[in-house]
Amino acid sequence: MSGAERKVAVVTGASSGIGAATARALAAVGYLVIVGARRVNRLEALAREIGGSARPLDVTDAASVVAFCGAVPEQLHVLVNNAGGAHGLGPVAQANDQDWAWMYEANVLGLMRVTKGLLPRLEAGRGHIVNITSIAGREVYPGGAGYTAAKHAAVAVTRTLRLELSGKPIRVTDVAPGMVETEFSVVRFKGDTERAATVYQGLTPLTAEDIADCVVWAVTRPAHVNIDEIVVKPVAQASATVVARGAGL
Ligand code: NAP
Repeated sequence: MSGAERKVAVVTGASSGIGAATARALAAVGYLVIVGARRVNRLEALAREIGGSARPLDVTDAASVVAFCGAVPEQLHVLVNNAGGAHGLGPVAQANDQDWAWMYEANVLGLMRVTKGLLPRLEAGRGHIVNITSIAGREVYPGGAGYTAAKHAAVAVTRTLRLELSGKPIRVTDVAPGMVETEFSVVRFKGDTERAATVYQGLTPLTAEDIADCVVWAVTRPAHVNIDEIVVKPVAQASATVVARGAGL
């Protein structure tokens, strides 16, 4: 793709991890990528690197989403709803309201706001929505209720969208990763990098680039093909709770 025919992609939460890797991978296959997140310095460096554009975005703030969407061209070809994450890990008996509220805001309402704001542009561009959910949208694990409930909701929104958009030229894909080594666990454990590192001990986790690969594969299928769901885990991870550590995997 080049010049006037260059397709446009939006990636939310592109200041680190899966979002940054996806922005790079989409740029590498020719997309003009608009990246959004709260840490604008990081975004600007990424945008310079990939020849894209950086815009401030806080998906938990409706006004920020409106301003972000207003800067997107009238025809949008790919939207990757990636912004999100987990805050805390602990039993329902000790649930923290603020952590739960943030997880719903970022993973569910944020996805809804950005999607709603960009739907007319996606329709005009015969576009593709890719939501980064999680195996936490399909399974539960002790201590994970706030996050798993939010990701189950994100999966439900994704499936509902596919029904509501039936008859329109918009594809909808759910990419559901297992363990990916990014800043995810550092954020979940509120800056405790030692605790975060233990999550990935004794196994080879997925990389952000592995997930970016899935996104690029889904969006580069022929226009009549809709990849509904991709569930991707490290070989050492059989489920959210069954993980083979120290098995050389
Ligand atoms: P990460 O490295 O922590 O990246 C999260 C990204 O989301 C950052 O760029 C962050 O940017 C952005 N973000 C957070 N809150 C935001 C907000 N209010 N508005 C806009 N952007 C926001 O973690 P990651 O692993 O790449 O996570 C990306 C997605 O994958 C998340 O939805 C996560 O739930 C999902 N996921 C991760 C894993 C895993 O094991 N890592 C597994 C399954 C699913 P700013 O802080 O700069 O705003």
